Amino acid sequence: MVNVCDIQVMKPLLAEHGFHFSKAKGQNFLIAPWVPESIARESGVDETVGVLEIGPGIGPLTQQLSLLAGKVCAVEVDERLKPILGITLAECSNVELVWGDVLKLDIPSLVREKLPGLRPMACANLPYYITSPILTALLEAECFEAVTVMVQKEVAQRIAAQPGSADYSAFTVFCQYYAQPELLFDVPAHCFLPQPKVTSAVVTLRTRKERPWDILDVDTFFRVVRSSFAMRRKKLSNGLASGFPELGKAGAENVIAACGFSENVRGETLGIPEFARIANEIHRRRNAK
Ligand code: SAM
Repeated sequence: MVNVCDIQVMKPLLAEHGFHFSKAKGQNFLIAPWVPESIARESGVDETVGVLEIGPGIGPLTQQLSLLAGKVCAVEVDERLKPILGITLAECSNVELVWGDVLKLDIPSLVREKLPGLRPMACANLPYYITSPILTALLEAECFEAVTVMVQKEVAQRIAAQPGSADYSAFTVFCQYYAQPELLFDVPAHCFLPQPKVTSAVVTLRTRKERPWDILDVDTFFRVVRSSFAMRRKKLSNGLASGFPELGKAGAENVIAACGFSENVRGETLGIPEFARIANEIHRRRNAK
């Protein structure tokens, strides 16, 4: 197989095809072979698994996934990479390329069509400029057993954060509602060409088969979460009153008291069960009217 992570191989290959990196497409390609090897190994992919890869680039992770998986379906937006992937994936008979913007695709349909009979997982070195929308789409698709991604280290820390920590955010709650994250390892900037300004990290999200909370209305739940983080370091009642104007300040304080929290409680200290309790209380009051 062409060693695409070897800079002595990569540079002439890119030059031969007149390829220039696109910053706008988040193109930082891996030049350290241990990274795609470790991502593929740690992702839990085996021959029973069908992998959706986002952004194969010139194929370093695709090659490693191809060695382990039943099939790899790789979605790439940049069609200039077609002739290069034709060379680097020539020996990977279980890889199918799909050309297009992953955010415009119906992911569950794609998985059903391209990876039938296999356990679906997603794996990617994500383009940094659209990490959150892609991760959101992968989790909301609710069709993967696990999603393993390389992202900026600070994003990985946010995904896996605990209530009360500085990294804990509405995005943390969103990710942990769908999955249980585990930070795997850091990847220094010198492992990429061109070098990004930040350290990266690999995180795996094992999606929940069942959610251990009773959430009456998911939209209300996420509205509570967004309102709670909109005014960090302020009392939860301020955030709730602004996110649910129909409650007003007194109504927000009343909901918080009815859920058994102190009037000074701050949203960023609450976990998913506590957000669920508040959302359910608001939902019940709305329906009682
Ligand atoms: N997997 C390769 C590697 O590790 O060297 C490339 C990773 S690079 C960080 C991100 C890749 O995602 C690029 O190949 C880029 O063209 C592709 N990409 C960017 N936006 C995309 C989108 N909306 N849909 C699909 N692929 C996209």
